[in-house]
Amino acid sequence: MSDVAVPKLRAGTKLVVASHNPGKVWEINQLIAPYGLDAVSAGDLGLAEPEETEPTFAGNAQLKAVAAANGSGLPALADDSGLEVECLGGAPGIYSARWAGPGKDFGLAMRKVGEEVTARHGWSIPGPRANFISVLCLAWPGGETQIFEGRVFGHLVWPPRGGNGFGYDPMFVADGETQTFGEMEPAQKYAISHRTRAFAAFKAACLEHIQSTEPVGATGRDLAALHAAAASLSTQTEAAQFVLRLKADLSEHKALWAHVTLEDYLSALARELDASHQPHAPAWRTLAHALLAASRNG
Ligand code: IMP
Repeated sequence: MSDVAVPKLRAGTKLVVASHNPGKVWEINQLIAPYGLDAVSAGDLGLAEPEETEPTFAGNAQLKAVAAANGSGLPALADDSGLEVECLGGAPGIYSARWAGPGKDFGLAMRKVGEEVTARHGWSIPGPRANFISVLCLAWPGGETQIFEGRVFGHLVWPPRGGNGFGYDPMFVADGETQTFGEMEPAQKYAISHRTRAFAAFKAACLEHIQSTEPVGATGRDLAALHAAAASLSTQTEAAQFVLRLKADLSEHKALWAHVTLEDYLSALARELDASHQPHAPAWRTLAHALLAASRNG
C-alpha cells in the first residue's frame, strides 16, 4: 500500500466488482447496497479478465482489482479464494479452481485432494486439518490498495457429503460443526464462511463510516441506519455489536419504543420470529431484524 492517505468510499460511489461471476457480483451487491453504493461488474463494463499469475491469494486479488480500477477509472473490489490443506503444504491453495480442470469438475478436484491425502497422510478420524481462505482487495484508480482476509478452519472428510454449495464444500467440516458445508443450508454456511469474514473486515474498514442517506426525521431516531445495519450483518460478532446498538437506541429513544418492559418486548420478539420468513438470510440477520421489529410493533 502507498503512503498516500487512502480515499474513502461514500454513499453514491460506483464500485466495480472485479469479477465475471454473476454469483459473486450479486453477493457483493447485497453487502454494499445498504450503504448506498452502486455495484457494477467488470463484465458489464466490458473489461477483460486478467490472468491470475501471482503466487499468493492477496497478489491475485490485487492484480484483478488494480486491472479493473485502471480500466474503469473507478474504485474496484476483487476477491480470490481457495482451500488450503495442512498436510499437503497448503495445496490446492491458489490452484483450487485449476485442480477442477477446464471442465470445472469439482468431483475430479475432490478426488485429487482425496488421493493426495491418502498418499501423504492417510485418512484418520478426524480428517486432515484444512481451511478455506478469502482475500478481498479494494483498489483505487490512483494505485492505492487495501487487503482484507477471512479464514474458516476445520477438517476434511472422505467421502464427500452433501449436494449444497459449490467447489470443495462437500469435503469440509468447520470447527464446532458436524455437517459438511455441502450438507448445510446456504445461510448456515454463509454465517461462518471465510468470505463473510473477509467482507466483515472490509465493512469495518471501508463502510461503517457511511451514514445512511435517509432522513433521521423529527424524532431523532435513525431507524434507516438501524435497518441498514440489520440488513448487512452476517457474523456473530456483528450480531453482538447490533444488540449493543439497540441497547443504546433504547436508552436514547425509550419513548419511541413500543415495548419497554422485558415481558412485552420478549412477547413481541417471539411474534416477530414466528412471522418472519427469511429462509435464505443468515440466521444472525433474521434475528437482528426481529429484535429491531419487536421494538416497534403495536
Ligand atoms: P476463485 O477465487 O473464483 O478463483 O475460486 C477459487 C476456488 O476455490 C473455487 O473455484 C473453489 O474451488 C474454491 N473455493 C473458494 N471458496 C469456496 C467455498 O466457499 N466453498 C468451496 N470451494 C471454494
